[in-house]
Amino acid sequence: MDKCFFCKGTLENSVTNYMLDLNGQFIIIKNVPCHKCTQCGEVSFNYQTMKQLEKIVAQLKQALTEVAIVEYAA
Ligand SMILES: [Zn+2]
Repeated sequence: MDKCFFCKGTLENSVTNYMLDLNGQFIIIKNVPCHKCTQCGEVSFNYQTMKQLEKIVAQLKQALTEVAIVEYAA
């Protein structure tokens, strides 16, 4: 099991909501799989998840809505 980068606490599999503010356009992606530190609550994503988030964000940017809330889909 990996250790937390900040406090060396234990990381566990969890989900989180990923939020982004792009010059007034708010993007919220719900239930993103992540590793969460049981000690300080710091959240980290693996490489694959980061890439997928980038893809989802790029798609939502095209939509030009002020607020976009979507469920994470791999
Ligand atoms: Zn920690």
